[in-house]
Amino acid sequence: MSKTEGLASASQDFIRTRIGADTASGRYEGRVHTRFPPEPNGYLHIGHAKSICLNFGLAHEFGGKTNLRFDDTNPTREEREYVDSIRRDTRWLGGEWGEREFYASNYFEQLYQFAQQLILAGKAYVDSLNADEIREYRGTLTKPGKESPYRNRSIEENLNLFKRMRAGEFKDGEHVLRAKIDMAAPNMVMRDPALYRIRHVRHHRTGETWCIYPMYDYAHCISDSLEHITHSLCTLEFENNRELYDWVLDALNLYHPQQIEFARLSLTYTVLSKRKLIQLVQGGYVNGWDDPRLPTLCGLRRRGCPPEALREFCARIGVARADSTVDYSLLEFCMREYLNAATPRVMAVLDPIKVLIENYPEGQVEMFDMPFHPEDPSFGSRQVPFAREVYIEREDFAEVPPPKFHRLSPGREVRLRYAYFIICKEVIHDEDGNVTELRCKYDPASRGGASPDGRKVKGTLHWVASKTALTVEARLYEHLFKVEHPGAEEDFLSCLNPDSLRTVTAVLEPAMAGLKVGERVQFERIGYFCVDEDSTPGRLVFNRTVALKDPWVRQQQRIVT
Ligand code: ATP
Ligand code: MG
Repeated sequence: MSKTEGLASASQDFIRTRIGADTASGRYEGRVHTRFPPEPNGYLHIGHAKSICLNFGLAHEFGGKTNLRFDDTNPTREEREYVDSIRRDTRWLGGEWGEREFYASNYFEQLYQFAQQLILAGKAYVDSLNADEIREYRGTLTKPGKESPYRNRSIEENLNLFKRMRAGEFKDGEHVLRAKIDMAAPNMVMRDPALYRIRHVRHHRTGETWCIYPMYDYAHCISDSLEHITHSLCTLEFENNRELYDWVLDALNLYHPQQIEFARLSLTYTVLSKRKLIQLVQGGYVNGWDDPRLPTLCGLRRRGCPPEALREFCARIGVARADSTVDYSLLEFCMREYLNAATPRVMAVLDPIKVLIENYPEGQVEMFDMPFHPEDPSFGSRQVPFAREVYIEREDFAEVPPPKFHRLSPGREVRLRYAYFIICKEVIHDEDGNVTELRCKYDPASRGGASPDGRKVKGTLHWVASKTALTVEARLYEHLFKVEHPGAEEDFLSCLNPDSLRTVTAVLEPAMAGLKVGERVQFERIGYFCVDEDSTPGRLVFNRTVALKDPWVRQQQRIVT
């Protein structure tokens, strides 16, 4: 499956229905050309993934194209770093834009010319009210606005002032260029919206060339038009802006794409607003944009989330016209589903307790050949050493077993996966009463973990031989926020989950020593893990992508949550 193919979603939704109708009727000569238009003022997050999958997926399904367009009209908040990350993350998710990488700033000169045309047509004017006055004159939803005293300036005066705005003769805020539409329009967006404002700010691509910058509503529709976009998909909050989108293109008599709005993605236990994400990063609440707890694409990537799982997630949530919040567990489900089929199983112990097998010969090491995947032989197998001293998970032992506890306890027999049956003979404590070691006996006749005589054991435990174990670091993540809807809280920072990151020192079977950054494995019975870039030659660092929850684990009870 090609990457782009994976972006295609089979389900039929209102957007696909509309585009299907347009191609059938020959509108836009049957072409489908979409764009993904991020503003380079932050890192992409899973909400953008929805937009990427939609735009690139549609183009793929209808045999069309998708442009990557940086909507870089606001120079104060944009940076090169963001542009680079957006390209990387979009490509990672499967978006392929070929040569079609565009910048709204490429059109600054054309946008300026179009603005002059609007002035010449009597459809735009330079206003000299200040920001407060403009707000006041705008009216409210129930009260019509008031016309500015500068609204009826002559075309010549407007042209002249606009030229001088561009030449840098005025300070920020002294004048704005506004569309001349209708100060009493029921849609507030249409009450003479600003088209250009003065900002004496350096732009990361155009440098000092400009000191006037076009507004989003003006630049976006023209950019779409210049690129011959057919369907311009945006989120619902732009519904009211569609009238202005259409007005600008009609006023200039330009080629006219169709804007269609869809619902934003919201996800429980996290925030998806760039403003809030920036606060988390800059305030040091997380360790950078790619902190695996963040819903950013680079954070999800670092955590080990495969792009295929994200695409599946986007396909499952679909697109609709009503806002809704998606449960974070759906994302986890998609990750598990993909990783279950795609990752080798290995054994690691996150909270080790020592088990000494008294009747196992001292110094002996046996190698067991273990399959990497119980259902898929193509994964092959590896050799796992077994010896007299092994580690098991502390939670797999209970000195006084509660009801239904089927793992190890005094006098009880369990299976060490693929190795032997062992029975617990003695429990060693330190002076505080903590269990420090278990003394066990094994049954040599149960080699390979098979019952020698038909007797049954209820528990099967994972284990790691101590002498040959690799010591690794495992980072275990929980939701970043304690509440389901942190974005709705007055102070979302007060709802941060203090336990969202727990770091443990774990032991891992030695065959994994050569794992590379980004490689994924399942630690049996614990979860899916991905090698982090903080790993050093002597010490692997793992991120837990998602905890395990499959039938086998449920039966065994979840050991590390
Ligand atoms: P934010 O509110 O987080 O700043 P934004 O909409 O300003 O987001 P842009 O960079 O302008 O971010 O977004 C690029 C594209 O991604 C737009 O088409 C936007 O509609 C879409 N997008 C952004 N956030 C979401 C979301 N949560 N769900 C779906 N699409 C989104
Ligand atoms: Mg935006």
